[in-house]
Amino acid sequence: MPQLQPIFTSEEIRDTIERLAHEIKGDYQGKNPLLLGVLKGSFMFMADLIRNLDMPLEVEFVALSSYGRGRKESSGKVKMVRGLRTPIKGRDILVIEDIVDTGITLSFLLKYLHLKKPASLKVCALFDKAPRRQVIVSIDYLGFSIPDAFVVGYGLDYDEQFRHLPGLYYLKEGS
Ligand code: 5GP
Repeated sequence: MPQLQPIFTSEEIRDTIERLAHEIKGDYQGKNPLLLGVLKGSFMFMADLIRNLDMPLEVEFVALSSYGRGRKESSGKVKMVRGLRTPIKGRDILVIEDIVDTGITLSFLLKYLHLKKPASLKVCALFDKAPRRQVIVSIDYLGFSIPDAFVVGYGLDYDEQFRHLPGLYYLKEGS
């Protein structure tokens, strides 16, 4: 049986998202940014974040994959499973990521977006596992720094399970 060890409650996540929304609102005054979520993991974060952003904005998603089924490590090879379906030239783009680990996925996405010439390109990530970074990427709005361990819940899965949990948990070794 999988063993889950709580890290952050839904209340702690909610408070942090309110703080992020406050920072974002201050920086995007008078703009109409396109918030670009990375599927699948960011769906819950995106939904809660935008409910705290009373300002003009648009929402779009891309899907990237670097983990195979049943894996806890990135394969290092990123595939664009669903590309952009809206032009972003001249737009203010804010990438919404669930978690940054090695940085390989985010770096791949930022290069892809950069080529499309947005007016600005920033990143908002809820969780950061900085000790595991292999590629330098900068995060403009960060929720939580977490240690090097595999986590699930709040949109994040292991083998497609646990995404629905409202808090964040460590998935313990041997499970
Ligand atoms: P990176 O390319 O930075 O190594 O990995 C980014 C992606 O890997 C994230 O968007 C997420 O889908 C997945 N990922 C990284 N760390 C974790 C983790 O601890 N738990 C889960 N469920 N997914 C993770």
